[in-house]
Amino acid sequence: MLLKRSKEEVVLLMLCGLSIPSILPFGIVRLFQGNFLMATVDLLIVLGMLCIIVFVWRTRKVRLAGIAVTVFYSMGMLAAVYVKGVPIAYWVYPTMIAAFFILRAKEALIINSVSLIVLVVILRNAMLLLDLSSLVVTLVLINLFSYIFSDRTSLQHFELNQQAEKDFLTGAGNRRAFDKQLQTICAKDEVHTDVCILILDLDHFKKINDQFGHMVGDQVLIQFCALLRSRIRTADCFFRYGGEEFVVIAMGADDIAAARFAEELRTLVEKAQLLRDYPVTVSIGVAKKIAGEDGQAWFQRADTMLYEAKLAGRNAVRVAVNDSV
Ligand code: GH3
Ligand code: MG
Ligand code: MG
Repeated sequence: MLLKRSKEEVVLLMLCGLSIPSILPFGIVRLFQGNFLMATVDLLIVLGMLCIIVFVWRTRKVRLAGIAVTVFYSMGMLAAVYVKGVPIAYWVYPTMIAAFFILRAKEALIINSVSLIVLVVILRNAMLLLDLSSLVVTLVLINLFSYIFSDRTSLQHFELNQQAEKDFLTGAGNRRAFDKQLQTICAKDEVHTDVCILILDLDHFKKINDQFGHMVGDQVLIQFCALLRSRIRTADCFFRYGGEEFVVIAMGADDIAAARFAEELRTLVEKAQLLRDYPVTVSIGVAKKIAGEDGQAWFQRADTMLYEAKLAGRNAVRVAVNDSV
């Protein structure tokens, strides 16, 4: 299964893709005009962009490609200033701002700082000291503002992403986060790593709500999650699938280890007395991932086991028998 391409990949592919039809005609015209030096420069840029497209398409390594693109066009911009002089200096502004769109704030700042030093060296004899100082100060300010803006935007983006994947009541990962994680595991489909899914469903939860009210029910869900979180390892993932149903993805656990783990969780909940003088228990269905199996089929097998645990009288663990191993 193929993972959807990230926004960063698409932006970079489009940027490189658009620069080819923009530059290639100039290269061809210059070639026919006999301007071989400039034609070579144009065609080298087109070739470079093509290489970056192939690299990103095949490896999905956006950061490395982003750095290559930025270094590439920064060098192009400096070369143009070197050849054509002061009038081209105005192009330095958009070029430097563009770096903050492609790279992380720190990376863009480093590349732009080096470019600025080279620019000063190129223009030191071509401009009056006062004009050169103005150019440097305004470029420093542009970089400073872009850095602050880009850094704050990334932080907000990160926080929003975190919030969008969190269940607001319990703090566990939500259904969206679970679907994403399941897709990632199935796309990697690592044959040598065991991974098990545990579906946990609180028993007769409706009765708790009916008897004690919804607020108490909510508190039970919060405490249940805190209890589970205290027991699961950092490598494991924990999600609220919906209502009073939760999922743990146990990384590196075969079905025997996962069965033991599920039994531990079941006992933990039973003994914790989440409600005073009222039994709160959980039923758990477990399934180990079969190589090549898609997320839906894997989840379905664990869900069938959960159904069997309920049928067996609840407060129980059932593990899928894996015929293929
Ligand atoms: P079973 O043992 O078969 O799982 O029975 P159950 O009562 O737990 O299952 P059922 O699906 O019949 O009911 C689930 C209940 O969980 C019904 C719903 O009101 C309650 N519930 C779902 N989400 C929340 C929530 O966020 N807060 C509270 N307090 N209750 C919730
Ligand atoms: Mg239930
Ligand atoms: Mg349920």
